[in-house]
Formats: sequence, structure tokens, C-alpha cells
Amino acid sequence: MRVLVVDDDVDIQTMVRMALEDCDVLVAADGLAALAVLRQTPVDAVLLDVMMPAMDGFAVLRRIRGGENGADVPVVMLTAKAGERDHVTAYRDGADAYLTKPFGLDELEAALAEVTSRSRRDRTAARAEELERAELLARIEHTFGV
Ligand SMILES: [Mg+2]
Repeated sequence: MRVLVVDDDVDIQTMVRMALEDCDVLVAADGLAALAVLRQTPVDAVLLDVMMPAMDGFAVLRRIRGGENGADVPVVMLTAKAGERDHVTAYRDGADAYLTKPFGLDELEAALAEVTSRSRRDRTAARAEELERAELLARIEHTFGV
């Protein structure tokens, strides 16, 4: 399996490389580099950081989904931002899963296995379900300020 990790944090790049030693791990430190990789190389999944300089992960995600190459690739967002509004944005823009940093390696492997094993139809259904759940949680967060 070939995985593209997009993160400006070198430690995360290294950790993912070590965690996914059975995978061919490609690395991009920013959104433009990631889009350049995807134009040339088909990958089985993208691990995408949200907070990056120049272009944030949501913008990269929208570019991936709107592009010609890799528009269907499973995308797992990796981020320290944990607010439900961000989850809503991610699922609305087409993310398949969302891992909040710091995440465990088992969690990462499980998320990857899950998103890469789903059919396109199942992924669409799962995304709609996650979006609904995130919208509900965002309303609760907004109402109670938690
Ligand atoms: Mg970052």
C-alpha cells in the first residue's frame, strides 16, 4: 500500500514512516507539494494535517476532491484541532476519517485499514453518517460551550 503523509511537522512524518513500515510512505511538507505528488503518483490513502503554512489541510482536501487525479483517494485528517466545527468542515469537504493528535499508532493503522477497505459507496455513506454526527456534536458544543 502506498500512503502520502502531508504534514509540516517532521516528527509526524518520521512517526508515520516508522509506524507504517510495511507501506510505501511518500512525504509532502505542504499542500502544494502534496498536490504535485498526487498529480504524478497514484496513492492508496492520504494522511493530511490541517494546520500548515500557506494552504491548510481543508483547502488541500478541497483541491484533492475537485481535481482530476486522486479525487477519490481515501483521506484521513490528522490534526491537533479538535473542535466539532472542524470535524463538520472535514466531512463536508470529503474527509473519510479524522484523527486528533496525539494519536496512537494502532489508531492510525486501524483508520487506514478501515478507509482503504471500504467501497466507494460505503465511503460515501460513512462520510454522511460522520457528518451528521459531527453536526450534532457541534450544535451541542455551541449550546453548552464545551
Ligand atoms: Mg501542522
